[in-house]
Amino acid sequence: MITSTTGPQPADFADVRATNLAVVLRFVREHAPCSRADIAASTGLNKATVSSLVADLIDRRLVRETGLTENRVGRPATMLVLDGSPYAAIGVEINVDYVSAVATDLAGERLLTWRRSFGGGESVNQGVAGVGAIIRRVVNRMAREERQVLGLAVAVPGLVDVQGTVRIAPNLGWRDADIGGDLTKALRDPGFPIQVDNDANLAALAEQRFGAHAGASDLVYLTGEIGVGAGIILDGRLRRGRLGYSGEIGHVQLDPDGPECHCGRRGCLEVMAGIGAVLGKDPSPAEIQMEIEESVRLARAGDPATLATLESVGRSLGKGVSILANLLNPEVVILGGYYVPLAPWLLPAVQEEMDDRVIAAGSGGQVVASTLGHDAAALGGAARVLDSIDSGRLPRVP
Ligand SMILES: [Zn+2]
Repeated sequence: MITSTTGPQPADFADVRATNLAVVLRFVREHAPCSRADIAASTGLNKATVSSLVADLIDRRLVRETGLTENRVGRPATMLVLDGSPYAAIGVEINVDYVSAVATDLAGERLLTWRRSFGGGESVNQGVAGVGAIIRRVVNRMAREERQVLGLAVAVPGLVDVQGTVRIAPNLGWRDADIGGDLTKALRDPGFPIQVDNDANLAALAEQRFGAHAGASDLVYLTGEIGVGAGIILDGRLRRGRLGYSGEIGHVQLDPDGPECHCGRRGCLEVMAGIGAVLGKDPSPAEIQMEIEESVRLARAGDPATLATLESVGRSLGKGVSILANLLNPEVVILGGYYVPLAPWLLPAVQEEMDDRVIAAGSGGQVVASTLGHDAAALGGAARVLDSIDSGRLPRVP
């Protein structure tokens, strides 16, 4: 509990203190309202240390005392809760057809949710300028509310390496773009860290922290945007792979004779079960929302062609999900993005394919629609910032 479990660490006093502050902060997040005695009893830290750590967290305005007390034998205990009122975590998602921004407080309460259409076809420079302008407005809003921004994480649909460089974002047409560095310049060194990650990875973090299956330690999130990718949480941790490119299920081949994918191969999951397959054509960023709504309307009305298309897309999706289930044995596979409104018609076919294909009956877990909708990746950006606070990168005293 007190020291890190990842191999030898320098036993530096400041490191131990930061680790212990994080231990107490996480305990309060999970168990508030709680007393100092509760923290000491559960963490194994002694009471004097807990009092000193709590005093530090109160100084940083990460924790506050409530008026509530709990009567125990002896003195009544003052109860503690998360404060975080002077802080904000920001998440932004850049997608082909929209940009969304979310800000939360330390407890994950939503402070702001914005979504703007994005034309598609922007160059990296145009994209960074547009997204930078949105972020500036979010940061200004937080400043007006007297909140310090703890950090920003940006979700991009593509291969993002572990340094945060966007290697290939095929649907945006971006390559080798240092979005984090470019945004830092565009925002004139804003004084908070900027991270960049793949949209599916961040959406999986959002589900783990905020979704209907929050706390699940084995979870796969499948994006249903113009592209299809998977964010993988196994044994409680996001799994990025060596370079950060795990989860590219969208370009796993389902049918060698299938239609051509824009990646140049044939019969990829993305071309067989992506949103283009639902619409029967390459989706145009400006119209995709409207067209999906129309598909939902037709499906509700029982239109045979629409129902047949959704069944066929559901079957292909089920093949893809079965591959994930056989490989990863998740507790739950969560369908996101445009899959959410289509889920009532996709899920039965997905489930049938899984029943046929998953080798250990029941090991595929549940397949469900996300409850976070199109905000998942942006919300995951905020979750990523909160994760780094929880792991001990505490803000300076405001
Ligand atoms: Zn492909």
